[in-house]
Amino acid sequence: MKIGVPKETADNERRVALTPEVAGRLVKSGLTVVVERGAGESASFGDEAYRAAGATVGVTAAEIFGHSDCILKVQAPSTAEVGLCRSGAALVAVFQPSAIGDVVSQLATRNVTSFSLALLPRITRAQSMDVLSSQATVAGYKAVLLAAATAGRLFPMLVTAAGTLPPAKVLVLGAGVAGLQAIATAKRLGAVVFAFDVRPAVKEQVESLGAKFVAMEITEHAETAGGYAKELSEDTHRRELAFLAQQVKEADIVITTAAIPGKKAPTLITREAVQGMKPGSVIVDLAAETGGNCELTQPGRDVTQSGVTIMGPVNLASTLPFHASQMYARNISTFLLHVVKDGALQLDFGDEIVRDTCVTHAGEVKKA
Ligand code: NAD
Repeated sequence: MKIGVPKETADNERRVALTPEVAGRLVKSGLTVVVERGAGESASFGDEAYRAAGATVGVTAAEIFGHSDCILKVQAPSTAEVGLCRSGAALVAVFQPSAIGDVVSQLATRNVTSFSLALLPRITRAQSMDVLSSQATVAGYKAVLLAAATAGRLFPMLVTAAGTLPPAKVLVLGAGVAGLQAIATAKRLGAVVFAFDVRPAVKEQVESLGAKFVAMEITEHAETAGGYAKELSEDTHRRELAFLAQQVKEADIVITTAAIPGKKAPTLITREAVQGMKPGSVIVDLAAETGGNCELTQPGRDVTQSGVTIMGPVNLASTLPFHASQMYARNISTFLLHVVKDGALQLDFGDEIVRDTCVTHAGEVKKA
């Protein structure tokens, strides 16, 4: 079975789906791996390293797409890329089918069996394939570095001959995978860290990282059986906004990561709340791509309002492409080996990993 790894073509995408190390492991398991020339270059993986690992380096994207049994990508394919796929091939990437309806129909029409790892169930068995977690870890870490590089203050407390500097106060809103990593990173930089989430289970995790959980009374059940947050009722959300407007006044840095799967990100910081913040404060909104947790966030841009900088970075994982690709490659290869048996794709739709991630198969759209 031939596995193809094209160079990513989306703007600002520096990751690659397979690293040389993981390509080597697939080769040892009996698969043939063909990587497009320069595919790993922007993540610091050269063609030579892929060759040394036993992979072949192909010259053109057409060669990779046209001759592979399974394509491994990071971003969704473009229509031009789907046009290059051969009938009966498979493709694995990370995308929300509803956001790229045309591409999904085209994948079905071309009889490509496609999988999106964005749809992977968050179950223990699938943890080693969980790209959302691995890439959120990278984003949570980078968000704190962005804030530290933008703020006009130091993070740690310093006692110097030139006076004593108090530590920065960092508030993390949403303590899922990215939020917990942001807490850990801000702690390591010496900040005093506070965190808030609507899921009560999070309190213990926040405290185990040395941060303080700021609690608000929530009487409704804010967590699904799957462990995700639910959309709050209008009344609770109104109380949350008022509560957070008070909390952000005290903070020097606010990192927001709140999300509700399949929905627009909840608003946590209103325009008025920003006006109440200290000049020089920085908000890094990791939910910028899904609508933003701050009303003033603009995806991909930094906005300054009443002396507060609101950053809306997109695709942060791609800005640390070496380690982000390393984790991604391990996730996607574990998924691949789960669906490939004896050198061929063998799909068991009774398995929720296969059922939930499969977007198109046998000419049919399974997830629109
Ligand atoms: P996510 O990206 O969906 O959301 C980020 C955080 O935002 C969550 O902690 C959520 O509770 C919070 N949030 C949502 N609405 C909010 C609001 N109005 N105010 C404040 N916070 C709000 O979450 P995630 O990081 O993907 O993780 C969600 C859960 O899944 C966690 O419990 C995590 O530990 C779990 N998880 C399990 C597995 C597994 O078992 N394989 C893998 C990854 C994550």
